[in-house]
Order: sequence, then C-alpha cells, then structure tokens
Amino acid sequence: MNTVNYLRISLVDRCNFRCSYCMPTGEAITYLHRSEILSYEELLFLVGEVFLPLGIDRFRLTGGEPLLRRGVVGFVRALVGLPGVADVSLSTNAYLLEELAEDLYAAGLRRVNISLDSLDPGVFARITGRDHWHKVWAGIQVAHRVGFDPLKLNIVVLPGINEQEVPALAALTLDRLWHVRFIEFMPIGNTGYFEQAGWVDSEALRRRIRERFGLAEGTCYGNGPADVFQIPGAKGTVGFISQMSECFCSRCNRVRLAADGFLRPCLLNEADQIDLKTPLRAGAGAAQLRELVSELLLRKPEINFRERDRGTTGSYGRTMSQIGG
Ligand code: SAM
Ligand code: SF4
Repeated sequence: MNTVNYLRISLVDRCNFRCSYCMPTGEAITYLHRSEILSYEELLFLVGEVFLPLGIDRFRLTGGEPLLRRGVVGFVRALVGLPGVADVSLSTNAYLLEELAEDLYAAGLRRVNISLDSLDPGVFARITGRDHWHKVWAGIQVAHRVGFDPLKLNIVVLPGINEQEVPALAALTLDRLWHVRFIEFMPIGNTGYFEQAGWVDSEALRRRIRERFGLAEGTCYGNGPADVFQIPGAKGTVGFISQMSECFCSRCNRVRLAADGFLRPCLLNEADQIDLKTPLRAGAGAAQLRELVSELLLRKPEINFRERDRGTTGSYGRTMSQIGG
C-alpha cells in the first residue's frame, strides 16, 4: 500500500460556476449552512493535531470554489506556517484569481491547479454555464506573472464538446512552463450527463497529440495520479488522469475532507466516509480523532476503482463540487 500523506480539504461546497460534468443539470443544489462548515480554527486544529501527526503533511485546498470562502488568504498563511506542513496547493476555477493571486502568493502559496476546459469563450460558457472565459484567462495570466510554479491547467475532456481542442490545449505547454492535465470524465456529479455524453480515454488523446506534435515516449514524470509526458522541445508537460481507463489505486496517496467535516478514504467510496465534525464539536480530544482517522486509513487499501464496478462501495449522494474533486 502507498503511504497516505496528502489531504484534499474542501473549504466550501458552493460554486459560482455550474460545470456540466460536476453538478447535476437543472436540479436545485442545497448548500451547507455556514454553521455546518468546519471553521478555519477547526481545520487548523485537525491539520496540526490530527493529520500532521499521522504523517499527512501535503494539503490541497479545493471546493466548490475555494476562493469564494471569505478569509481564504489568511487561512492559507496560517496553514503554510504550521510547523510540519510540507506543501499547500489550491484548485480553483480562477474567477477570483485576478484579484487574489498576489495576496495568495504573498501568503506562501506556490502551486495552483486551474480548471480551463476550453480556449473558446463560447465553448467555455457552454461547459461552465458562465460567460467568464476572459476573466478566467486574465486570472491565469496574473497567476503566471506572480510566479506560481507549477501552474497546472485541468481539462475534463467531453466528447464532441472540447475534445477537438486537445491539441491546442496541449500546445499551451510549448512555450510556457505550464502543465496541462487532461482528465477523463467520471460519473460523479452529473451521472445523467455522463451516461448521455460518455468519455474519451487518455490513450486516444495521446494519439492525437502525438500525431500533431510528437510526444516523448516513456517520459513519465508522475508522482500523483497523472501520467506525465512532454511534447519534444516544450517547456511544460502534458498529463493524463485516467481513472476510467486505468486503475491507479496502488499509487493513491490521498484522502478527502469535505467542508462539513466528512472524511472519505477514496473518491469512489462514500459508504466508508467518517464524520469528524460531530466528535470534534462534542469535545473529542486529538488522540481520539487520530484514532478515528487511523482506522479509516487502515480501511483504505480494501477500497478501489474495481470495487466500484462490483457495486460494493455504495452510491453517491455527493457531487464533485461537494467532494472537492
Ligand atoms: N472549483 C475548483 C475547480 O474547478 O478547479 C475546485 C473544485 S473541482 C470539483 C476540482 C476538480 O474536479 C476540477 O479539476 C474538475 O475539473 C474536476 N471534476 C469535477 N467533476 C468531474 C467529473 N465528473 N469528472 C472528472 N473530473 C471532475
Ligand atoms: Fe465549480 Fe469547479 Fe465544479 Fe466547475 S468543476 S462547478 S468550477 S466546483
């Protein structure tokens, strides 16, 4: 089993976008009440007293849209400053990055992953439900100028929608030190749409990029879920997150904490998530909470993508925006 050393922390379940692959179409989404969301103090306590002592020292802030949460810059500063924290990164739709990139960098953040599903403002609006391409692009430019490195762009590939843009998106890596990651569309968040649209497997994308630019074979730099390649001579890299066509459970090093304090051992496992907020608010001490998390970590190896196919991991009540991706 891989060591688990990485926690994705969802700061908020709300989002200002409505990405077709992430949220259900046409359904009203019920958001958490503020009181149900773990406060920054609670999060810092959990990180400092529960996760770090268990060897989890790498953290990604996600959501919903994490930059919508008030006080996020101060939280980043506090998290980066906790003794023992090895790495802090952020996943964002970049809508607020133009305003916040500089402050986030000054607070100690160095790594951002940005969702950018299209280079065409019209296609972008169709996918995200928002006509915000120009603002997102401006946010990416500011993040680049401020010096975020690595700067990663995440693209969920949707058949017939943005699939044809894959070579153009890959070409962003030619003269910029950006890392473009293509993600296979998964049936979490909007299963109705998934069943209708289907997904494109990463090997098909690699073929297209290879035909157009070449792709250095065997240059696999990944230490996370992505298989990472490089177009010959490019500054950046292209990666593929292939959770539909591959099983990378053996390299999985992460668990996920939702904004309401539910910790899940695996993206695909909702049945075995545990509630940390209730015991925390009932006065459980750090040792007791560590015990709960340790038990969850022990259960993790039994849960994988194949279990999902066998239907043994239960159904999902949560969308990707609620889980944090
Ligand atoms: N709002 C931020 C963003 O868009 O980056 C952070 C949260 S978002 C849920 C985190 C990641 O999940 C994004 O990269 C998004 O593309 C990915 N994601 C959401 N739904 C997905 C799905 N059904 N299949 C694959 N990836 C998905
Ligand atoms: Fe919001 Fe990110 Fe989900 Fe898009 S992928 S709806 S930006 S949480």
